[in-house]
Amino acid sequence: MHDNVRVRFAPSPTGGLHLGGVRTVLFNYLFARQHQGKFILRIEDTDQTRYVAGAEEYILDCLKWCGFQPDEGPVNGGPYGPYRQSERKALYRQYAEQLVESGNAYYAFDTPADLEQKRKEIANFQYGYFYRDQMRNSLTLSKEEVKKLIDSGVPHVIRIKMPEDETVSFIDMIRGEVSFQTSQSDDKVLLKADGMPTYHLAVVVDDYLMKITHAFRGEEWLPSAPVHLLLWKYLGWEDEMPRWAHLPLILKPDGNGKLSKRDGARLGFPVYAMNWTDPNTGELTPGFREMGFLPESFINMLAMLGWNDGTDQELFGLEELIQKFSLDRVNKSGAKFDYEKAKWFNTEW
Ligand code: GLU
Repeated sequence: MHDNVRVRFAPSPTGGLHLGGVRTVLFNYLFARQHQGKFILRIEDTDQTRYVAGAEEYILDCLKWCGFQPDEGPVNGGPYGPYRQSERKALYRQYAEQLVESGNAYYAFDTPADLEQKRKEIANFQYGYFYRDQMRNSLTLSKEEVKKLIDSGVPHVIRIKMPEDETVSFIDMIRGEVSFQTSQSDDKVLLKADGMPTYHLAVVVDDYLMKITHAFRGEEWLPSAPVHLLLWKYLGWEDEMPRWAHLPLILKPDGNGKLSKRDGARLGFPVYAMNWTDPNTGELTPGFREMGFLPESFINMLAMLGWNDGTDQELFGLEELIQKFSLDRVNKSGAKFDYEKAKWFNTEW
């Protein structure tokens, strides 16, 4: 099905890159190199409300420091910059409309106040199969009315129409078969009132247009997979869907929950690749680079967070990692982060 391997790292510019994020880049990069494929960087910046100034520059600097340069970009000739979804905005609406046309999505005209009201009236309100009939959308309004509303510029979104109760399954490269019931998901918004796609629509359209063959992303995206799978199917692209690998979380040192940037500040160790100062709060999250880590030891340490080659070997150079990396040796469970161990990698290098 796929000849040439094409992978992407697709960060949202919402802040610095924590360990989990950089490890996702590393696994993408190793996989691409190993298969003489292409590694693509795509900035997912369609959510203006979460955009943080300086985050994109930070991500680019961080990739440079680690040596993970993209193999392709919107401008011909390297060094390649990233694709940016905000610059591709015009592209997504046609696909959302195609989905409305095929009956797999619909226009919704509910105002934020309408939604708020519903949430007050109904405990655990989900805009989906059970309640969509009570809302103002193209499934409940007449065709003429919908046309009138759209023509007069009334703000609206486009939502996916999730099937009532279907089982959706796929083979994850790390976890094997994963199944979901569609009833668990609401009718996610695909196109927002400002004309921007949401993550769900943009990630599917771009993975398709960029011919991505393998998509590595954090485990927190697993619950979104059924929505993406249905979009691939409804858009008629099912045969070209990338193979997914949902990477296990990086856990706090005691194994109790996901490692967060607060843990770094609280426990006094770096959790970001490089220092990151939040422009809104002025809060500094310490980085490995400023702690004196060599990029080589940082990369080695990252690779060992949840992967091993089946032997006791722990020190690997990049070339060796490229040769030996394999997804079936990535652990299914989360990897505990241990700063003392991380420092050991830096002294051994
Ligand atoms: N933009 C998403 C993120 O910030 C990317 C998820 C994906 O790779 O599909 O993590």
